[in-house]
Amino acid sequence: MERKKYILSFPSEIVEIPITHTFMSRFGLWTNILRAKIEPSSGGKLVIELRGEGDMIESAVRYAEAEGVTVRPLEHDVAVSRELCVDCGACVSICPSQALSLDPCTFRLVFEPDKCVVCGSCAEVCPVAAIRVDF
Ligand code: SF4
Ligand code: SF4
Repeated sequence: MERKKYILSFPSEIVEIPITHTFMSRFGLWTNILRAKIEPSSGGKLVIELRGEGDMIESAVRYAEAEGVTVRPLEHDVAVSRELCVDCGACVSICPSQALSLDPCTFRLVFEPDKCVVCGSCAEVCPVAAIRVDF
C-alpha cells in the first residue's frame, strides 16, 4: 500500500469530468480531497491524497493526464528554500498538520510533504519568503 499526494490542475473545459470518482471506481484507490478551488469559467485545482497499490496510482495519474489534467507531486508546489530559511520557527506553530517542525538536535526546519495539506499559512508568516506554495 502506497500513499501519495498530488496537486491536480484542470482547464475549464474538463472541470465536470469525475476524476476522483474514477480514481476510486476504476483504480480502487482510497481518495481524499484535501483542498479544492474550482471555478467553472477558469478551471481549478485539487489537492488529493491517494492510497493504494503503486501501479494503480501510476495508472490513475496517467488516466488523469490523458484527460487533460496536469498532475504534480505535492512537493513540487510546496517548497522550502534552504538558502533563504533562517530556522526562526515562525511557520512551525501555524502549520495545522505538523508538516513543519524544528529538528530537536540541529534546530533546523524540517518539512514533511506527506503531512502537508497545502493551506498556505506558512508562506504567509515566513519573514524571509523562504516558503513557496503554488495553489
Ligand atoms: S502549506 Fe500549510 S500544511 Fe503545508 S507546510 Fe505550510 S502551513 Fe503546513
Ligand atoms: S518561517 Fe521561514 S525562515 Fe522561519 S523557519 Fe519557517 S521557512 Fe524558515
